[in-house]
Order: sequence, then structure tokens, then C-alpha cells
Amino acid sequence: MSDASMDVNTAGESADTDVDAVVIGAGFSGLYMLHKLRKQGLDVRVYEKGDEVGGTWYWNRYPGARCDSESHIYCYSFDGDLHEEWEWSERYPEQPEILEYLQWVADRLDLRRNIAFEREVTSATYDESSDTWSVEMADGERVSTRYFITAVGCLSKPFRPDFDGRDEFEGDWHHTARWPEDGVDFSDKHVGVIGTGSTGIQFISAVGGRADHLTVFQRTPNYAVPARNRPLEDDRYEEIRANYDDIWERARDSRLGMPFEHEHETAYGLSEDDIREVLEERWQQGGFRFLHTFEPGSILSNAELNETVSEFIREKIREKVDDPETAETLVPTDHPYGAKRPPMDYNDYYGTFNRDDVSLVDVDAAPIERVTAGGIRTTDDHYDLDVLVYATGFDAMTGALLALDVEGPNGRTLEQKWNAGPRTYLGLMTHGFPNLFTITGPQSPSVLTNMPMAIEQHVEWIADCIGYMDDHGYDRIEASEASENQWVQNTNMLAENMLFSEAKSWYRGANVPGKTQVFTPFPGGLDNYREICARVARDDYDGFELGRPSSSAGDAVSEADD
Ligand code: NAP
Repeated sequence: MSDASMDVNTAGESADTDVDAVVIGAGFSGLYMLHKLRKQGLDVRVYEKGDEVGGTWYWNRYPGARCDSESHIYCYSFDGDLHEEWEWSERYPEQPEILEYLQWVADRLDLRRNIAFEREVTSATYDESSDTWSVEMADGERVSTRYFITAVGCLSKPFRPDFDGRDEFEGDWHHTARWPEDGVDFSDKHVGVIGTGSTGIQFISAVGGRADHLTVFQRTPNYAVPARNRPLEDDRYEEIRANYDDIWERARDSRLGMPFEHEHETAYGLSEDDIREVLEERWQQGGFRFLHTFEPGSILSNAELNETVSEFIREKIREKVDDPETAETLVPTDHPYGAKRPPMDYNDYYGTFNRDDVSLVDVDAAPIERVTAGGIRTTDDHYDLDVLVYATGFDAMTGALLALDVEGPNGRTLEQKWNAGPRTYLGLMTHGFPNLFTITGPQSPSVLTNMPMAIEQHVEWIADCIGYMDDHGYDRIEASEASENQWVQNTNMLAENMLFSEAKSWYRGANVPGKTQVFTPFPGGLDNYREICARVARDDYDGFELGRPSSSAGDAVSEADD
């Protein structure tokens, strides 16, 4: 292990430094990875672009930002003291509270001393002669490391459509994922928002009524299910605390990393009326419990059941919106429920469109032609705006990874390797890039689950793997090409057997023009995935190739032999 004594916050001024592990990002993943590896005696350095910890919850400060996972499971499970000491205030945590939680964890575990803030990685290059990664920052700092671990999040590179005239707009514009810390004043303003995904839906419900007028530019309507947020009363909290072990066990052993029971495994043998009755019960419970009316995999693969569920939601939308024409514009018919990430409704989203100061523009029927100095021109009309908000999502799953400009042995870049879509083994490593671990990488369950559950499993697997390598004298690991090919094929096949291909979603890269369209997360369930990863580790990292220090440049790495 190298010398762990350096204060990283002065690293920019010092000469090149060697560490055991570099972790990129100080959100949920990066913080836990740092904690785990440091406990194993490694010298770890985290580089974070922001000036604080928090990751997603640092950057996404837009009005209404809140997590769709219930607060008591949207946190770390690895340390019982943390959930004994922390108390969430609401059923779904709001962005400032999650940020405060992560700041508290960073202090509580004394993590900040190994985090360098305001450091943007501009490249990472593998040096075959020393089997190390050289990681370079925008300020010129360069650090060499044995292990290069990305904790950059799946939804962290904002996507802003390249509309004609985009830069001519003379009002204020903001992307929701880069929201100003001081907020934005909407009073007396004509505000326009593009996008009605999870973010847009939260933003629209929060800002409707706060602006002189809010114009919503919607291309595709979505299925928003009521979250039914409420304060967490003391007695409910006591119950949660008393049952945490069981809650975590059920969450880890579930498809989505959530401990919710489903009412029925499938719809087999149930009449339409029976189905609607249980759907209504779950609609009243709200949130992801609705998706758990049936085993979620069944809703996501049985087209007939899915159509009943989708139609149930469509009727709810029609009931809530006064103007029938507006209601029909808000009713999704182009994709089955769940084929896109299902959004939640916290604040009467559909009722917002009954307000006189909120209007809906269907930019599927009349597309945006250009952004002008004073607003937006569609093929139908011009909309005058003082503030333009892009709730247009992310270059998801791969955008933030490729932005690191990673170059493996022989000069091959990750971008070249993934030009027809990402390829990994278990979402943890990609062949040809030794010692590069990707927390919640493509082809792992990640975004299809309650993220902290998926993150913890990856962090623990990577830490165990590094521990195994140390114990057995290996210093190099990479996914074998054969195991990677098999895993990619497996992931694609599972996705094809579900309804995901029926939506133009960011799960498939369909939201970014020109991006290769391939379903990216592993859809086989966190429970199954955990078992696969555990078996691979038990079988001495089956499907990975491990090398010893003696394997000098150019030597083939060997399969684990002991
Ligand atoms: P998103 O789901 O990708 O939605 C982007 C929206 O922008 C869509 O309505 C899209 O329309 C629209 N859009 C994009 N380009 C456009 C164009 N050229 N013209 C018109 N409209 C355009 O992004 P997001 O809402 O930021 O959500 C991304 C993910 O982040 C979510 O799915 C979720 O996983 C996560 N998230 C979670 C929470 C939470 O837990 N509460 C909150 C926010 C986000 P189309 O649908 O037609 O493409």
C-alpha cells in the first residue's frame, strides 16, 4: 500500500502522487467505496467535481426535487448506527434532506479528508509498464493509481437538446440538473418548461401557481402515479427501526431492491374486476407500491396485464383533468406503463393543468421549430418566455463514463470500444480495461432498482474482489471477452422478453439523437443478479482474468489458478 498520509486538499499544488485507488464522484457510491477501501487499509482518493458531497443530490436542486424511493430504504444499510441516529422527516425525502444526510454521513465516517473537491477528471490512461492508471484533472493534477473506480452515477451528464437558436434566448435558462444554488425567482415571470419525465413532473407541480404563467412543452405524456407523501410519524419510525434487519433482507432479496410485498404473483386466474380492485388498493397506497400490485416483472412482461394497468392509470388521468382535450393530451398511449421509468406525482400533477396560469403545449403534434430571443417557436405558434427550463434529462448510463476520456492498453478508448453500445461483464468491468471498476455500470440492475441497494452491492463486491486480489498476490484483473459477450447477450435477451422495447426511453439511449440504441440496465432483478455476482466471487472470480505483479508489460494475464 502506498503512503496514506497526504492531505488531498492540497494535492493540486504538489507533485504527482501514487495512491492505491482513485474513486471518481462523492455521491452515494463514492462515499461508501471510500469508506470500504479505507477500512481495508488502502490509500484512497476521491475526486469530486462539485464543491460538496452529494452527487445526484448535489446537482439536482430544482424546485420539487424529491426521491421516489421511500426514505427509510433510500439510505445506507451497511451500518446500523447510521439508521439508529438519522431520522427522515417524510415518507419520500426531499433533495435538501438527502443532501444533508450524505453530508452527515461524510462527517460521521470522517470521509472528507480523502476527498478532493472541485476536481474534474479530464482523462484516464492505462500504463501497461506499471499496470497503473494515470488520472488527469482539469487543473493539470495527475495521479497514478492501481485501481480506477468510477462512482459517477447513471444520470449525471445533463442532456440539453440542440434546438436551432438555442443560444439566442435572451431570458434566463436553466437545466434542472444544474440548478442555481440560490434558486430562481419565478414571480411575475412567463416560465416555459420542456420535458415531462420524472423531473418535469416534479418541477411542474411545484412551480405551477408560482409564476405569472407556466407553459409546459410536452412531447410524450407519462404515467404519473400518486406518491402519497406524508410526514413520518414517530410511531411509524419506531416500527421501521425495530424491523430494519428484516426490511433490508427483503429489499436485497427482491427484484427492485424494495421490501414491498406484491398482492399477486401474476394476474393468472383473476378477472378484470379483481385486477382493478387490487390496483385501486395499491393506487391508494401510492408510490412504487403500485408497481408491486403484481410481481413487477410480470407487469413489465405480460402485455395484457400491462394494458389493464395502463388503462387504469389513463382513466385516473381523465378524471383529474377538467378540459377533455387537455386530458387526452396528457394520456399516454404510445408506450406501456413501466417501459419508461415510472414517475411519481407528489403534488396533484394532473390537477395543475386545471389552473388558468398553466398551459400545455403538445410539441409532438406541433414540434419546437426553434428557440428565439423571446421564447419558443413551434410549427404552430410563438410562446413568449422570460425563463426557459430544460427538464430534458440525461445522456444516461454511459454519458458520464465516456466523458472521463478513458484510454486502455494499446491506446484503445472506452468510446471506441462502446461505439455500438456499452459492453461489460456484470456491469462491473469491461474487457480490455484492467483494474477499472464501474459502480452501477451498464448491464447491472442500477436504475431499475432502489439505487442505494444496488450501489451497496457493487461497492461490497468490488471491495471483496480487491481484498481477494491482495490475499492472493494479484495486481491486475479484467473481464474476459467471452464472459462479457455472454453477459451482454444475456442482458439483451432478458430485455427483449420484456416490454422495454416498446418505449423510446433513456434506458435504451433513445432520448439522445444519434446515440446507439441498446437497452442498458440488467432487467433480471437485483435478487438474481446478487446471486450471480456472489457465485462468481465464490468461484474465484470466474469469468475474470487475474494477473500477478510478475506479469510484465505485454504478458497475457492468467485465469485465477488458486
Ligand atoms: P427524462 O425522463 O429523460 O425526461 C426528459 C423529458 O424531456 C421527456 O419528457 C422528453 O420527451 C423531453 N424532451 C427531451 N428532448 C426533447 C426535445 N427535443 N423536445 C421536446 N421534449 C424533449 O429525464 P428526467 O425527467 O430528468 O428523468 C430522468 C431520470 O432521472 C428518471 O427517469 C429517474 O430515473 C431519475 N429521476 C428520479 C427522480 C426521483 O427519484 N424522484 C426525479 C427525477 C429524475 P420524450 O419523452 O418525448 O423523449
